[in-house]
Amino acid sequence: MTPMVKAEAVHKSFGASHVLKGIDLEVAPREVFCLVGPSGSGKSTFLRCINHLEKISAGRLSVDGQLVGYRQKGDKIYELKEREVAAQRRDIGMVFQRFNLFPHMTALENVTEAPVQVKGESKANAVERARKLLDRVGLRDKGDHYPAQLSGGQQQRVAIARALAMEPKLMLFDEPTSALDPELVGEVLDVMRGLAEDGMTMIVVTHEMGFAREVGDSLVFMDDGVVVESGRPREVLTDPQHERTKSFLSKVL
Ligand code: ADP
Ligand code: MG
Repeated sequence: MTPMVKAEAVHKSFGASHVLKGIDLEVAPREVFCLVGPSGSGKSTFLRCINHLEKISAGRLSVDGQLVGYRQKGDKIYELKEREVAAQRRDIGMVFQRFNLFPHMTALENVTEAPVQVKGESKANAVERARKLLDRVGLRDKGDHYPAQLSGGQQQRVAIARALAMEPKLMLFDEPTSALDPELVGEVLDVMRGLAEDGMTMIVVTHEMGFAREVGDSLVFMDDGVVVESGRPREVLTDPQHERTKSFLSKVL
């Protein structure tokens, strides 16, 4: 089976700063893959490389069997053209810590924007699908609300619906609940749990170890640009093998 994401010796530097130092990992289709680690360890950078927001400095990174940003022909590698990069990005949904909704658009308009503008879907069709998606994230009656009229948890659920509207084959979550008041975290995690049950492939950067344990299929602990250890969430969380993992978990658990 082709992995949904495969990283082989992926490096990323910003100038003299070496941030990803040889990441090797594989995410299977339908897997919920949790990525945890201290601040500054390179988690966001890794997600951003998958989604073309950053370019890797060395190694190989592929999504669903296609190199990210490149095409291989024989032993030659070509950079993709802008149009081809856009096509790759379309298949990947990303949800950030900050909800990043368009403030001047209603929830419904936020969800229909990309399908209409990027995919050329008809307005009527996009609206019908957007209503279903808002329903799926528990916001059926909030379509006409502007982001400022919604709680942080509701905004984040709109952001998830907006990403799903492009029918991605992979969803990236970068600390989706870290900016939320504690009482709003559960409603966002519940939506993510539903997505997982529906078989969505997800990479989730999170400090929510309860979610990782219950919903995650695998967990990778990253520190200082390397994968320190990985395994079933329950195993890594209850019986971490490395000092750095133990020290991190003692702070977040
Ligand atoms: P995490 O998400 O695990 O907290 P990040 O991937 O955001 O870590 O950051 C890892 C390191 O890369 C940090 O030291 C950060 O300052 C650095 N970094 C991230 N983006 C840039 C950038 N655009 N330019 C320079 N340094 C960056
Ligand atoms: Mg980060």
